[in-house]
Amino acid sequence: MTQQQPLRFQRRDMIRSGLAAGAALSLGFPVTAAETEAAKAVDDGITWQKGVCRFCGTGCGLQVGTRDGRVVATKGDPDAPVNRGLNCVKGYFNAKILYGKDRLTKPLLRKKNGKFDKTGRFEPVSWEEAFDVMAGELMRVYREKGPAGVSIIGSGQYTIPEAYCASKFIKGGLRSNNIDPNARMCMASAVVGFYQTFGVDEPANNYEDIEKSDVMLLWGNNPAEAHPVLWSRMTNRKLTHKPTKIVSLTTHLHSSSNLSDLTIVFKPNTDLAIANFLIREIIRRDVVDHDFVSKHCVFSTGPTDIGYGLRNTDKWSRPAERDTLERQLRVKLDRWEAAAQGKKVGEVVEQKNAGGPAGNHWAITFEDFKRSVEPYTIDFVTELAKGDQEESADTFRRKLAELADLVCDRTRNIMSYWCMGVNQHQRGVWMNELIYDIHLLLGKHAQPGNGAFSLTGQPSACGSAREVGAFCHRLPADMLVANEAHREKTEKIWSIPKGTLNPKVGASVMEILRGLEDSSIDFLWMQVVNVMQSAPNNTHWTEATRRPGSFVVVSDIYPTYSARAADLILPAAGHFEKWGLYGNGERRTQAWPQVVKAPGEARTDVWMMMELAKRIRIADTWGELPLKGVPGDKLPSVLDEAQKMGIKPDATLFDVLYAPTGGRAEAVWPDPKYPNRSNATGEALGLAYFPEKALFNEYRQFTVGNGHDLADFDTYQSDACRGLLWPVVDGKETPYRFNTAFDPYAKEEKLFYGPLMKAMPTGNLSGVTDKEQKAYPGRAKIFARPYAAPVEQPDAEYDLWLTTGRILEHWHTGSMTRRVPELHRAAPEALLYMNPQDAEKRGMKRGDLAEVTSRYGTCRAKVETQVRQKMPKGSVWMAFFDERAMVNSVVIDATDPISLEPDYKKTAVKVRKAS
Ligand code: SF4
Repeated sequence: MTQQQPLRFQRRDMIRSGLAAGAALSLGFPVTAAETEAAKAVDDGITWQKGVCRFCGTGCGLQVGTRDGRVVATKGDPDAPVNRGLNCVKGYFNAKILYGKDRLTKPLLRKKNGKFDKTGRFEPVSWEEAFDVMAGELMRVYREKGPAGVSIIGSGQYTIPEAYCASKFIKGGLRSNNIDPNARMCMASAVVGFYQTFGVDEPANNYEDIEKSDVMLLWGNNPAEAHPVLWSRMTNRKLTHKPTKIVSLTTHLHSSSNLSDLTIVFKPNTDLAIANFLIREIIRRDVVDHDFVSKHCVFSTGPTDIGYGLRNTDKWSRPAERDTLERQLRVKLDRWEAAAQGKKVGEVVEQKNAGGPAGNHWAITFEDFKRSVEPYTIDFVTELAKGDQEESADTFRRKLAELADLVCDRTRNIMSYWCMGVNQHQRGVWMNELIYDIHLLLGKHAQPGNGAFSLTGQPSACGSAREVGAFCHRLPADMLVANEAHREKTEKIWSIPKGTLNPKVGASVMEILRGLEDSSIDFLWMQVVNVMQSAPNNTHWTEATRRPGSFVVVSDIYPTYSARAADLILPAAGHFEKWGLYGNGERRTQAWPQVVKAPGEARTDVWMMMELAKRIRIADTWGELPLKGVPGDKLPSVLDEAQKMGIKPDATLFDVLYAPTGGRAEAVWPDPKYPNRSNATGEALGLAYFPEKALFNEYRQFTVGNGHDLADFDTYQSDACRGLLWPVVDGKETPYRFNTAFDPYAKEEKLFYGPLMKAMPTGNLSGVTDKEQKAYPGRAKIFARPYAAPVEQPDAEYDLWLTTGRILEHWHTGSMTRRVPELHRAAPEALLYMNPQDAEKRGMKRGDLAEVTSRYGTCRAKVETQVRQKMPKGSVWMAFFDERAMVNSVVIDATDPISLEPDYKKTAVKVRKAS
């Protein structure tokens, strides 16, 4: 393999593979099908208004074209700073995702003999019946298991009002913290990395850095397929600014590495070693910005025996899964881990800090930190990390040296970008932190053209899941359920009694799914998510949905794989059939109005939650409740307190959480600001009320004055606004946080002002030496984090690595994009990308059907050996959009033990020709 891969796609191949539109954006070719689609709509009696793309975290602005009550086209918004008129091939088809033939238009309930039966078949029912059964089942479980027995799996695809509404419903109404979004599965490691390093979530930089950088490091990142418009900006920078170097650090060659200046193929998990090598070089070459580091940073480390986040019991595992489960508890150190952790080769390390203590950390000296990176010499890392057997050690070593030269060149602006490759990682938090280390040591962070930038996978993973706090441990604006002052502030803004909120961290996505299996959780509502397809090791969880005693609800616009596993399916309104706001990956909050009505009886998610809330009384949920793990193993009754606040004893959760009273009463419908528009939620409620506006403006109160400041609903909705980067202070957005020239919250003496985790004990690389918590206000942490091997590695039986990911044409599980004929034709099925020699060794060639088997399951796919993902020997790759292939039935459910995010990139598999 050569270091610089020329573009190998011929135009014919590109069209056939469906890459035409995305690649065209980068390369200046005309976009055929997609462009034609948008062009057809030009001024043909169409009304255009602003919108936001439904798909990736890039957050492209759209112009949405409607005619005769239908969205007939979308095109890139030329005024949107994110995409400046561009879209990728998915973006052009935002209209068509609303109109698939099997769009859900009526609630469907499993019934037998005229009533709900878990073993029955789906039958259409009225909303009345759907809610009656749903409320009945929810309260049955609630009475049996209390708040710990009910759950919601939400989404980074929620609008901001939806996430806020859901979080308030379950945390404030049901007093359960068992809500977690699918953002857990793509961003949780980034979130913990932000918390531990800066004390506050979300990136400091913004997308304009692409045009200001000289070096872009792509850590396990393939933006050509996952963030195509950002990739078009990156390649434009490369073509128009000669010094630009793009470096792809990856486990295989892909569409982004094809255009990179330097591609380093490494073995899974050894990115940890490469990052440590760069840190070692920064120190060795003395290019550390000592002034910046001494003023604004503190060195830190944590335990290394933290486990791998599999279940802590084998009670539910199948026989084949047990050896990996055993290995996660007692790790026998190989040569590399022993050197990295300062231990003996072959030593067996009990994973004593698995679980809660995994995230503990303590301050260390610079000398200790320096010692931690000493093992990572260029020879050590070459031997450990070289990922392509065909490449010589000399070539790999030369590439590492070239990378170090670029990183250590003080004259260059340098950006790091990453997404799932770093986050979906058994040491994802560590890897996030090592990348920050590089930028903090260089003093190149939070500045124009310089910074470490964690990209977001979903359109509102930041805005809805993270900022709103739709996680099991969070409250709005970076507050935490475990913090009494944070709960009190939340109770005050929500106008609910003090003591209502549950102080115990709830269940994360994997814990909810495991809870469904072991019956500790019996009620699950999946909202805007297809988690039965997207979760790893998913046959466990789909089987669990059929367990007697459980009740599973899905609200979605199509009968997804998850919907078919449910007991009740609720037909949801689509993207442009409701008012919404998203927050993209650069802290940009963007809004759009409802432009069309949902088909049939489909309704907004906000309406569904509000209607269900009308059927539950505070008397059922605000009394004394059993709950293990809180003082006295019970939540106190807050009914007396509620009465003192003027809340009637027979009030419903709708009355106390959502009704148009207090501050919410100001959001009226019709709203004079939006004449001639519809409001699906308010109209279905039958109230002169604008719920999305009320919810957003209430949520905004959490953000103002604490570094998360948002503008009001009408500002974002105004025609002229193309989103604002928060914090928005005095009407001005903040392009760079932690930078005194831009961020009103940043002060020279307290640059990294994030308040979380700022106090820690003191110690050395072996552990804590002084338990006293010492505060480090205003400082970012630079973490010593060693190389660690994945829990499962190829062996004699399962002899290949399996990595999974996304492709350009399909969004996540394909539930929307597979219903767009053009996208479906471009990529009709998931392929198994293999090295041609690996295929040949197994008697296969391109196009043959292969069977992929792991300890967790088996799937089938056609072999591809020539284009797109070019695999080194020993590794295979599949996308997860195809529910027929269902690669996630094969993927291990190990997680990062600190973030609880699954690792989809490292399953040991065997492949054979399918018979
Ligand atoms: S999928 Fe992402 S890159 Fe493509 S148009 Fe939508 S937001 Fe932009």
